[in-house]
Amino acid sequence: MSLLQVKGLHKSFGGNRAVDDVSFDLAPGELLALIGPNGAGKSTTFNLLNGQLQPDSGSISLDGQSLIGKTPREVWKMGVGRTFQIAETFASLTVAENVQMALLSDDARLFSMWRRASLYRRADALDLLAQVGLAEQAGRPCSELAYGDVKRLELAMAMANQPRLLLMDEPTAGMAPGERLKLMTLTRELVTKNGMAVLFTEHSMDVVFGFADRIIVLARGGLIAHGTAQEIRDNTKVQEVYFGSGKTFARKGQA
Ligand code: ADP
Ligand code: MG
Repeated sequence: MSLLQVKGLHKSFGGNRAVDDVSFDLAPGELLALIGPNGAGKSTTFNLLNGQLQPDSGSISLDGQSLIGKTPREVWKMGVGRTFQIAETFASLTVAENVQMALLSDDARLFSMWRRASLYRRADALDLLAQVGLAEQAGRPCSELAYGDVKRLELAMAMANQPRLLLMDEPTAGMAPGERLKLMTLTRELVTKNGMAVLFTEHSMDVVFGFADRIIVLARGGLIAHGTAQEIRDNTKVQEVYFGSGKTFARKGQA
């Protein structure tokens, strides 16, 4: 049973077909990687899924409910989360307060004062931080966190709304290889525990081949391949279009 169903999705910017007839689905508990060269249409696909953009045509449904025409907030309320860009959050607040802000955004209108925010659902915030291994950092200002910890905080914040589907656009960008694997191991644990589905984009082939249950490949807006890590690795069309002819994927652990 699929949670997310995407059919015949199109989105053009002027004459540029950024997303061109893309269809795929995603089951609960599944990690699906969306890969492709720069400009392939990955971020546009994400923005169509989270309500920031509307498709020219095609359908997107979550558990049978259409997401077409919904605002980002409505889509979020329906259970589609995404990792926050920490730059959009509050460096001067503590780690726990940032999670509280994420918890609070559902009832934001009720709480206008930071002082109130710092009391809001403190226990839930600490529980989320424990899930990502940040319990001991709860009282520190966010600005003092190491980069890998910031990324784990982003994950905790994205989990605040208990999403059924989590969208992660380049979650490990800027991280050292060991940290990337740690973040994705944590993501996998959360997926297993919560039955959430994850769609992520990623440049590191180590991460993609090591963590994705399935992979879809975009090139110039079109979906050129869809399969397991092994199928994608062996797909000559993918190797040509994505890496340039002659190159092949490194084996796992060598990328
Ligand atoms: P990716 O995330 O795979 O690098 P994008 O989805 O960002 O690719 O971009 C796909 C194509 O759409 C690119 O040609 C890009 O220049 C174009 N594009 C993306 N967003 C916009 C926009 N808001 N306005 C115009 N063109 C855009
Ligand atoms: Mg992008």
